[in-house]
Amino acid sequence: MTQKVCIERVEVRGAAPYLGMCVDTVGREMPVWSDNPQVVLDWLCDAWRCRYNQLRTRRMKWNRDRSELVPLGAVVDSRTDRQVREQCSWLASVPAMVLQSPNRIENTDWWAANKRRKTLKKQHRYPGMMPRFKSHKTDPMFVCWYNKGANAVFHRLNKHHGVVVISGQNSKEHSLPGQGCRYEIRIRVRLSQEIRPYTSIGVHPKAGYLVFVNDPLPIPRKRTGLETGIDRGCVHSLALSDGSFIDLPKNRLEKIDREIRRRQKAQSRRVRQSGLSAKEYVRGGHHSNRYMQEQKRISRLYRQAHNIIDDFQQQVSRRLVSKYDLIVLEDLNLTGMGRKAKPAPDPLHPGRFLPNGQAAKRGLNHALRSASMGGIRQKLEYKTKRAYASSLLLVNPAYTSQQCSQCGHTCRENRESQAVFHCTQCGLMLNADTNAAINILQRGHEVLISGMGEAGRGNTAPDVRGEHIAENAAVSKHEPTASH
Ligand SMILES: [Zn+2]
Repeated sequence: MTQKVCIERVEVRGAAPYLGMCVDTVGREMPVWSDNPQVVLDWLCDAWRCRYNQLRTRRMKWNRDRSELVPLGAVVDSRTDRQVREQCSWLASVPAMVLQSPNRIENTDWWAANKRRKTLKKQHRYPGMMPRFKSHKTDPMFVCWYNKGANAVFHRLNKHHGVVVISGQNSKEHSLPGQGCRYEIRIRVRLSQEIRPYTSIGVHPKAGYLVFVNDPLPIPRKRTGLETGIDRGCVHSLALSDGSFIDLPKNRLEKIDREIRRRQKAQSRRVRQSGLSAKEYVRGGHHSNRYMQEQKRISRLYRQAHNIIDDFQQQVSRRLVSKYDLIVLEDLNLTGMGRKAKPAPDPLHPGRFLPNGQAAKRGLNHALRSASMGGIRQKLEYKTKRAYASSLLLVNPAYTSQQCSQCGHTCRENRESQAVFHCTQCGLMLNADTNAAINILQRGHEVLISGMGEAGRGNTAPDVRGEHIAENAAVSKHEPTASH
């Protein structure tokens, strides 16, 4: 969990930091000092990345024919922090709390990436690339440990402004005469909330922000005794079992979507007119500057849409968690739902295919993706764990939209249209999504009752483990409650 703040201004005070040796045009080596804030931050980012990549050379990978493990780098760098400080001039004056941080971060990055690949492989999904070296093309950044006030100390100046001070020193032989050796980098930041205790900071000078890494706050709430089932869908993003609906800001999203489509059409026209394939056009360097500008604009639009959806989900999940003690969702297989339709080979003409509804499925998949229903579940899982007396339950989604919530009659004809549910047995007439949500809540109750009947799974028992631990109901997929 992090708190992100904007960088307003950077100052370098005290001595000018020693940046290392530099080769000039004639080929002589010259020492370089600078007190230009931008240069100093770039230097720290480069130094941090350099140390990170030095540590990464020690990692092993399988060789081409997967017969033996070989090191990732051509040269294995096994020097310690102290040795590199002596041998690499550009690392000589880096603050210790910055130079040490890659040791742990490289390790966590590496194992997290490996674990992610393993999980994806197990799910038969594309596992992605092996983690490699950090490139200069990625967002330049560095991390500085706080280490109980050793460095990266935050001071609040007033309500909306604060300053983070990173201090360091040049060694004796690298300090300029009459300047002393200590330097301070003061990063002014803009605040919108109280900064909680943190363990480290990450500085992203190019993107213009700084993050404090700290523990997430528990969500304050009281027991309300309310329960809800939620049906996620394309028409209404969320339908609650009490008959209310929560919708994405569709107009804003559609506007962005239209804009993206318009620009993408123009882009593909540019490619088509060049007479090359899309790959050749971009990779072969035949593209115009305008093409790349447009590409950036399109990705900005995608980001905008993503931000709108993410913000919506954060707000809604927070509201749901503080209102309801029990939230029941259907356990949807979203990757399965988002697949293409199966191809249907034509038995009379080998090599040809019969219509399989892919065009319609493509539209549905797009709608599914743009509703991005996975996010809300993820956020609810995360937030119910952090809130007192709040739990999330996942139930089997089969036939929730065809079953009558009053008499339990299940058949296809019950669903009169997309929106209307009309039971053929008892004549119940209801919004189809609301009906499904009520079914989901009922299934949640069934699961809880059967769970208690089995062995008293300990989930619905009053939590004895303390205030802030969520009683995670029979979900137990993600956090098997060990209270029995
Ligand atoms: Zn009925």
